[in-house]
Amino acid sequence: MMNKPTNMDTSGVKPAASDFFGLGIVPKILDVLTRIKFQTPTPIQAKVIPLAIQGNDIVGIAQTGTGKTHAFAIPMVQCLARSGGSGVPITSGQKAGMGLVLAPTRELALQIDEAFRPVAHPFGIKTACLIGGASMYEQTQTLRRNPRVVIATPGRLIDHLERRNVALHDVIMVVLDEADRMLDMGFAPQVEKILSYVPKKRQTMLFSATMSHDIMAIAVRHMKLPVSVEMAPSGTTVETVTQELFIVRRETKLKLLDKLLARYPGAVLLFSRTKHNAGKIARSIREMGYTAAEIHSDRSLSQRREALDGFKSGRYKVLVATDIASRGIDVIGIELVVNYDLPDEAENYVHRIGRTARAGQKGHAISFATPDQSGTVRDIERIIRTSLPISRHSEIPPEQFTPAIQPARSAAIPWQGRALSRSWASKRNRSRFRRPGTRRI
Ligand code: ADP
Ligand code: MG
Repeated sequence: MMNKPTNMDTSGVKPAASDFFGLGIVPKILDVLTRIKFQTPTPIQAKVIPLAIQGNDIVGIAQTGTGKTHAFAIPMVQCLARSGGSGVPITSGQKAGMGLVLAPTRELALQIDEAFRPVAHPFGIKTACLIGGASMYEQTQTLRRNPRVVIATPGRLIDHLERRNVALHDVIMVVLDEADRMLDMGFAPQVEKILSYVPKKRQTMLFSATMSHDIMAIAVRHMKLPVSVEMAPSGTTVETVTQELFIVRRETKLKLLDKLLARYPGAVLLFSRTKHNAGKIARSIREMGYTAAEIHSDRSLSQRREALDGFKSGRYKVLVATDIASRGIDVIGIELVVNYDLPDEAENYVHRIGRTARAGQKGHAISFATPDQSGTVRDIERIIRTSLPISRHSEIPPEQFTPAIQPARSAAIPWQGRALSRSWASKRNRSRFRRPGTRRI
């Protein structure tokens, strides 16, 4: 049965919840989304929901406020509904399947429970929220009513497990929410213990704001070839980055880079689109008289480590990287990020510039776009919801800049208006960039 949503959003352009179509969400949940007025999936929801519905293990890296809860709540309820929910009365002998969500704090567990309820309700699926500081007795009563989603902080769940108030042998899906915080709070042993009660044959999703070695270790130990979904850091990380854009022909890029490097005494992280070009750029930079190292998939692990160590210690001024290799670069004190080539995926722009201005420091990002890349620039401006100020260099002949980019810049403005009318965008009010004045160098 395909229910077409009947409500229209205020602009009257699209049916409500239409943007959630095509993610594989069942009509009953689409109805819920319409009712709770979610019209557009957040980026992490758009990526995670279809992958999760297909049964993948997922590592999701995203900042708070990006809508992670529904990214796992929707697939979990849908999966549980398939395994004996949806109006089918659950007899005591029947294996119905359970979902387990672990969260670091009570507040977070409560919020997750609240988000779950409306989604689970149409399927008759009940939740139990097991958190410290609340009545054991009441939680025990709730557990007797066969909840099929258990949302818990690790310590309290272990209390219930040890008292045999709850069994986890029917769990078919596990979510570790804010896994980085759980580790920071010292919950690793508890999480390990809980997972030892859960069947190995299950789906696992892990969410974290950062990807650390410890998080990787959990993923490796407890997950099956997880798909990793990394979202652009929103808000704070990029708020302190100033940005500018040069329109420059391919053959003039090196000359411009030479001028720019002279301006920035500190560490420079430079992104190249291809690994082949990364090597060439690094060589050219050395010819300019600066130290440079490369980091891309053609380099061995030890070469990459040497490059990164050398960059961190100041042995290399410039680190030339491709997007694929950039994930592990967590270096504090990068003064400048240069997008020598614009990223193929606009979202990577935010990942790249997020490498500067770490830990609240100020950073600067300079991008080179060729005159034919107005479309790519527009895509980036959509994501960052601002237009990039265009700069010129006095020694780079102005005729090398073309106004071809201008229509893209103005075209970005009506989009911004639409974006802000979307409920989640306006609610969050995120990713505001400080706009630097156009810089003359
Ligand atoms: P996170 O777990 O990433 O910090 P949450 O899942 O708590 O983020 O979501 C943040 C807020 O955004 C919540 O108030 C939630 O209800 C709201 N929200 C999430 N997804 C959407 C959406 N698609 N449309 C509108 N609001 C949303
Ligand atoms: Mg959350």
